[in-house]
Amino acid sequence: MTDYKTLGVRPVINAFATVTKYGGSLMPPEVIAAMNEAAGAFVDLQQLQRAVGEVIAELTGNEAAYVTSGAAAGIVLAAAASVLHKNPDALKRFPDLGAFNNEAIIFRSQRNPYDYSIKQTGLTYIEIEGASAALRAAITARTACALWFPRGERDEEDITLAEVIAIANERDIPVIVDAAAQLPPVENLWRFTEMGASLALFSGGKDLRGPQSSGLMLGRRDFIESIRPISNPNHGLGRPFKVGKEEMMGALAAVERYLKLDHAARERYCEETTRMFCAALNPLPGVRAERAFPNEAGQPLPRCRVMVDPGVLGKSAADLVTDFLRHEPAIAVAPDSDTSFFLNPMTLNPGEELIVRDACLKLLSAP
Ligand SMILES: *Cc1c(COP(=O)(O)O)cnc(C)c1O
Repeated sequence: MTDYKTLGVRPVINAFATVTKYGGSLMPPEVIAAMNEAAGAFVDLQQLQRAVGEVIAELTGNEAAYVTSGAAAGIVLAAAASVLHKNPDALKRFPDLGAFNNEAIIFRSQRNPYDYSIKQTGLTYIEIEGASAALRAAITARTACALWFPRGERDEEDITLAEVIAIANERDIPVIVDAAAQLPPVENLWRFTEMGASLALFSGGKDLRGPQSSGLMLGRRDFIESIRPISNPNHGLGRPFKVGKEEMMGALAAVERYLKLDHAARERYCEETTRMFCAALNPLPGVRAERAFPNEAGQPLPRCRVMVDPGVLGKSAADLVTDFLRHEPAIAVAPDSDTSFFLNPMTLNPGEELIVRDACLKLLSAP
């Protein structure tokens, strides 16, 4: 069988994060087993999507759940649902939404490459500052939804999600949360929707460690019902975001596993690994390492920030990022600035932290 090696594609140790660029995450055996089993028989896909959704909804304390082909696809479908819940006529009209409520409110400080998914639906952005008055002024008869992207501790600078939901509720405007990378903590599976968000979208292939091409849409039943007619295997806007029986069963197994996971033990591993990296690297000339918390997605897990003096080491942090990838075995670290990068323990397999440490000792030694 042709494998990665035969193809000349080198496996990478992931000390970066659950980034899609390197495959997101690794599926644990129970997820692979569920996918394997699902691959062995034909089923009615719509029946399966409903049944899996019922169980995921129950497990996560949500009214309804739907397996998507990823959080980005989930944002497209959630945006569509926000139009459909007031205009069932829009069903076959995407992305030509001129005749409908076609505006999505989005906060300037939360802009990110994934909000393009909203536009794909045919909605236009109304970009505003993060203040209550700006939100109240932006809501009109044309508003379809407000999009919220949690940014961890930086949310403090802005209007809060609770305030957004309160204001949006007064005007019957759904709030959609892009929670793609908001696991851990596991409680986020119900927190955003309990707060009153209409839908929250999660990646199945990040910390959940489900199939890489899966995601969860959690929240209001009427919204989720509204997108079924345009989603796989039906035709329309959602048809390209195909979710197979294997992904559905894999996503379910991943949720079941995640809810039972010893999250405290996992946090301890990340803390201990971060401490170990700092202790190993700090004695090196021209290198300083420290614990950074929370991580870039606002997840409550530590990483190690490594700051380097190019004057001493003779190379920049960017050079080092490349050196790590060329190292045998290849290691992906998270780029940060000209003089720093991160080592993230959250995607390491136990034991790999020692390989990463040894690579650091080799590559960060002054010439
Ligand atoms: C990863 C990510 C996405 C995309 O998720 P996929 O499951 O890969 O489609 C969307 N939004 C944010 C903020 C993300 O971090």
